[in-house]
Order: sequence, then structure tokens, then C-alpha cells
Amino acid sequence: MNESKFAHITRVHPCFNEKMHDKVGRVHLPIAPRCNIQCNFCTRELNKCEQRPGVSSRVMTVEEAVIHVAKVIKEMPISVVGVAGPGDALANPETLEFFRIIDKKFPDLIKCMSTNGLLLADMAEEVAEVNVSTITVTVNAVDPEIGKNIYSRAVYDGKVYQGEEAFKIISEKQLEGIEKISKLGVVVKVNSVLIPGLNDEHIEDIAREVKKRGASLMNVIPLIPLYKMKDYPKPGCDELSNVRDKVEETIPVFRACTQCRADAYGVPGKEDKHLDMTPASHY
Ligand code: SF4
Ligand code: SF4
Ligand code: SF4
Repeated sequence: MNESKFAHITRVHPCFNEKMHDKVGRVHLPIAPRCNIQCNFCTRELNKCEQRPGVSSRVMTVEEAVIHVAKVIKEMPISVVGVAGPGDALANPETLEFFRIIDKKFPDLIKCMSTNGLLLADMAEEVAEVNVSTITVTVNAVDPEIGKNIYSRAVYDGKVYQGEEAFKIISEKQLEGIEKISKLGVVVKVNSVLIPGLNDEHIEDIAREVKKRGASLMNVIPLIPLYKMKDYPKPGCDELSNVRDKVEETIPVFRACTQCRADAYGVPGKEDKHLDMTPASHY
């Protein structure tokens, strides 16, 4: 990607530029409910109250999503259209179908997605073809001894992998995917979930590996203890900040993320909305 295109994208993207995080908006379209792996900290929910990834009020069809984009870009300063679940963007064919339409109808909006990366290497060309320009890949380990405790299952090419085997395929495909999509000119951010006592001393190794593969930015986010990891502690601010400082010696770190929902839209943290919100006057 040429420098000016890279600069333009990162200048107006709230998730790639801390200075713009509370100035420009993004709209997430919850069109991707299915997931092809199981992370041990994840439960996906349809509800109206929780503020975290993996949550949406409802799942939209591609048609509904296009209508939603057309509506919200008239109401607020939206620069980015993103698919962030509530499952995995690439495990749902609707994602690329949607971006194909958005690319034609609203070519000026930046197209963005987040993925666990399992299908990224296989789908990299298609992702680049629909002009997705930024992608977030969540990488929580590169060492199998650690990774085997984070993921319990992966379904790839019709085959189910469990435990360590699941991690092996996930990790191999994630790193191959990051390398491939970066070479195709898509800007890659890597999210890593900081899990105290498990990968807290390993995030720097992840940083080194993903930088080598072409990632431009990292976002270290605190574990929200749920599901099989409900008894793990939530990292404290100091712990998170120390890890981010260390990672920053290797790769730039994005620090403004507060982990938003799969149906969030508006300017993050400012005029932030999500689908089917109950108006404040109803409380
Ligand atoms: Fe949940 Fe995302 Fe992990 Fe899938 S990849 S299990 S949606 S956290
Ligand atoms: Fe931001 Fe991720 Fe949404 Fe893209 S998919 S707009 S990086 S939150
Ligand atoms: Fe992106 Fe995080 Fe900001 Fe949401 S809170 S828009 S996920 S950087």
C-alpha cells in the first residue's frame, strides 16, 4: 500500500488512531453470528445491556445492514464500516457479500473487520478484492504450551480439532493469514487478550512474531472473565499498562480501546449507540 493511502486510513480510523477515537465514528454490522473456534473466555450473547465484544441486540441480514449504514452515515460522522461479529467475520459468507455492496454504494467509507484469523490465509485475496483496508486479528498466544489453554476447539475444512491440535491449526493459520493479507496492502492490527497467569509474560513474544509477519499495530485488551475462564482475575490497570509499555518497545500500541459491542455505532465513547437501545426516557 502506498504511504499516502496508509496515512489517510489511519488518520480517520478511530480504532487505529487514538487521537481520532473520540472524533470520528464507526458502524458495526452484526451480520456474522457463527464462529469456527471456541475461545475459553467467550460467550456470545444477544442482549441489550452488556458492553463488550461478542454481544449484539440482534443479528442483521445483509440487506438490513446496508440500510442501517445508509441511515447512520447521514446522522453522524462515520468513517468506518466494520464487521466484528458477534461471531467470526470470515466464518460467515455474509461478511464479504456485505462489503461487496458497500464498496460499490459507499466507496469512500473505510471497510474493516475483526477475525480470529483461522480463515484469513485462505480468504486473503477475496478480502483484499472487496477493498477491505483494515483488519484486526486476535492472537492470544504463539506458544502451544500457552495456547492449548486458551482455545478448546477449531473447525477447519470440515474437521474438528480439540485442545493442542486446535491451537496448532489456529496459530499456523493466523500467522500465515497476517503475512498474506499484509502483503496484499491491508493494514493489520493485532488484538491480544491479556490473561493474568497465563499469557501475561507472553504478549511480548506475540508482538515480535506478528510484527515480523507484517502487523502495524497492537491492542492489548484485558480479559473479561467468562465461561471457562470465569475464575481468572481481570487484569488491573497497572498490569495492563506495564504489558503495553513492554509491547511498545517492539510495535506501536493502541491504548484507547474500551472493547465495544458487535452492533455499536457512532463516535466511540461519545455518541456511542447500539441497536435497539432503550431511550433514556424509558428508565
Ligand atoms: Fe468468541 Fe471471537 Fe473466540 Fe469466536 S473467535 S469464540 S466469537 S472470542
Ligand atoms: Fe474497530 Fe474492530 Fe470495528 Fe474495525 S472491526 S471498526 S477495528 S472495532
Ligand atoms: Fe474499536 Fe475498541 Fe474503540 Fe470499539 S472501543 S471502536 S473496538 S478501538
